[in-house]
Amino acid sequence: MKVEMIKPVEGHSNLTNYDEAYANFDWAEVEKQFTWYETGKVNMAYEALDRHLLTDRRDQTALIYSNATREESYTFAQLSELSNKFGNVLRNLGISKGDRVFVFMPRSPELYVSFFGILKVGAIIGPLFEAFMEAAVRDRLEDSEAVAIVTTPELLPRIPVKELPHLKHVIVVGANETQEEGLIRYEQAMSEASADLEIEWVDREDGMILHYTSGSTGKPKGVLHVHNAMIQHLQTGKWILDFQEGDIYWCAADPGWVTGTAYGIFSPWLNGVTNVVRGGRFTPEAWYKTIEQYKVTIWYSAPTAFRMMMGAGDELVKQFDLSSLRHVLSVGEPLNPEVVYWGLRVFNQRIHDNWWMTETGGQIISNFRCMPIKPGSMGKPFPGIYATILDDQGNELPPNRMGNLAVRAPWPAMMRQIWKNKAKYEEYFRFPGWYVSGDSAYKDEDGYLWFQGRVDDVINTSGERVGPFEVESKLVEHPAVAEAGVIGKPDPVRGEVIKAFISLRAGYEPSEALMEEIRKFVKEGLAAHAAPREIEFRDKLPKTRSGKIMRRVLKAWELGLPTGDLSTMED
Ligand code: ATP
Ligand code: MG
Repeated sequence: MKVEMIKPVEGHSNLTNYDEAYANFDWAEVEKQFTWYETGKVNMAYEALDRHLLTDRRDQTALIYSNATREESYTFAQLSELSNKFGNVLRNLGISKGDRVFVFMPRSPELYVSFFGILKVGAIIGPLFEAFMEAAVRDRLEDSEAVAIVTTPELLPRIPVKELPHLKHVIVVGANETQEEGLIRYEQAMSEASADLEIEWVDREDGMILHYTSGSTGKPKGVLHVHNAMIQHLQTGKWILDFQEGDIYWCAADPGWVTGTAYGIFSPWLNGVTNVVRGGRFTPEAWYKTIEQYKVTIWYSAPTAFRMMMGAGDELVKQFDLSSLRHVLSVGEPLNPEVVYWGLRVFNQRIHDNWWMTETGGQIISNFRCMPIKPGSMGKPFPGIYATILDDQGNELPPNRMGNLAVRAPWPAMMRQIWKNKAKYEEYFRFPGWYVSGDSAYKDEDGYLWFQGRVDDVINTSGERVGPFEVESKLVEHPAVAEAGVIGKPDPVRGEVIKAFISLRAGYEPSEALMEEIRKFVKEGLAAHAAPREIEFRDKLPKTRSGKIMRRVLKAWELGLPTGDLSTMED
């Protein structure tokens, strides 16, 4: 298949020559940009906030927050002072280095303040997505033996405090007069706290953040990252997100997921960039409005959001002035080529796909501004990182062969632990010197990597290996298809047959004729063996809260098997 290349963006980019950078890169040079390189004292909160107080950035806006009822902005100096206070609140409670402290609340300025207060006393932060119900909250607090949690009155009932012997302190933001005893009122504690705080200096290998994975493939795993990850957060911010002086950046991910912390908090603030945070639910209108209103220049989002905007139609986009945008990126799921073409058409922007995982702690593979994009490809490895394809014995495969996407270990932001689960951690490193991702991909002759699906989702039909992503991408090219999830279904003759679950765009109705038309569309556009034998129309596909299609759930439904852990699934 002939692949179209989309030329690099014009205008200044921080990275101008990928090949040269890749050949000469040295992480040790990045380390030198941090204060701790000279002092030996390290803490993410210092590098991302306090350090800027010594420069002109002091009074620059760090955070622009808005939701339906609030609109506020905070400078680096203000965030630094508020988080000092919250650090003191925690320290007065006896919380110290290594303790796990969770935040469980909607996106709000208080979330970001608490976040840095926790880091400043050397504790490990555990972010929880606001939509988690009681069982999901219990699992994570129990697994990590959290000692404290910051929450809101609305979410408080979902924390089973009495069943969690380690949980000593519950801090409530916006508590009312009649709230239960034993709770700490955030506002009151903050008003009594000193703004002077001696930050807890830690070792770069000390625990910083404990993220539970998205739960797309099974029970979420507690992934521990250390302060050292800042090296990668800083440099990927420069070269992938292309942070420059004066940028207004919006990362749409919630801090409950790794994108919302690594690239919604750490990377922009390490780079001193103004960060937009939007509370509330997704609607295409609200999102376009956010870009227009704050003159967002760099926008980092996810395929599910782009697909929903695409589904809302081109007419809607035209009602907004999105001309401030100069760089658009996507992560979390494969980015269908159709979406890339749509981005070119409506934003006049390339959407730069990049690949990484909770476990990798930072971006690993990306489409860089200075290089041509092949729509459907994740791009190339970040300088200083070697990513490739291995067979099932751990040998590197030649170009164009599908296999295990793997990364040479270690790299700066690599996870250091799966919480209390050494065996699980070691599974990722089963081939000496390699981290094996669990994703299936191939590398083409130009070194571009192409995602095929989760290893367990790759379909074996009549002796052909088919990646579900390829089929799904072809399906969403059809004008009637909004989203598609493809699975392999056991079949006595063919090994597996392909079944597609499809949600239709507004204005289309399920019918036998449409089914046949869609099947034919894939057969003629991709390959006969890749055309779904079975198609089922559904109003919605099962997705994680972070917007990923849960193929394991589709498969379980189809085969009548137990669905497993559903704590991260949307309503
Ligand atoms: P769990 O590990 O709990 O099953 P998860 O793998 O979805 O959940 P995350 O760490 O949030 O949890 O997601 C990482 C995964 O997301 C990757 O392994 C990959 O399958 C997918 N992914 C991320 N970015 C991309 C991308 N650009 N293209 C294709 N897939 C991507
Ligand atoms: Mg995973």
